[in-house]
Amino acid sequence: MESIKIGFDLDRVIFDTNAYMKHIDEKLKEKNTSLNEFFSGNYGRKDLGTLTKELSKKIGEDETKHLLFDDLGEFVSKKLKGLAEFVRAAGGKVFVITVGDKYQKEKIKGFPYDKIITVDGDFSKIENAASLKLNLFIDDKAQVVKELRTRKINAHQVTWFLDTEHKTGAMKDALSDPDQLGPLVVNLLNDEQNSHK
Ligand SMILES: [Mg+2]
Repeated sequence: MESIKIGFDLDRVIFDTNAYMKHIDEKLKEKNTSLNEFFSGNYGRKDLGTLTKELSKKIGEDETKHLLFDDLGEFVSKKLKGLAEFVRAAGGKVFVITVGDKYQKEKIKGFPYDKIITVDGDFSKIENAASLKLNLFIDDKAQVVKELRTRKINAHQVTWFLDTEHKTGAMKDALSDPDQLGPLVVNLLNDEQNSHK
């Protein structure tokens, strides 16, 4: 039997990326350096792959791994983890679609999902979410949500891990707490059940 398919973006949805970067910066400052120093003149993505490469050059691979990977679990939303568990227990599937590299899955170790899809940009993320015909997709970026809605995918912007500036500019129906997703998911599960009656 087909069941519902829920998709989540990773950064600033499941994972508190801003708080994590701040945490890493503080740890680097204890070593008399900072993220700014590592990224001066580099305007590329500050993803885990780039950070691992750049930090390893300066403080060695082992120390870099401890610094970047030891505390990742602290930055995963516990409420979303509970929701994903609930979806899967009800027979639904959980997809994570994220822009980045192979290190992305390290950020959400222990988070219950069926498949993680790593893509190279928002366009590819949108294409994947649309072709999977997800029943719900959650992203912090309004542009992604708007584009998916034009493709008839039920998408929602969420703001719980955004900074104040981005919260202020959010969509009118953006969700500010993972608890708001519970009723949406329950409705989808009920609709799905009724369609099989
Ligand atoms: Mg994101």
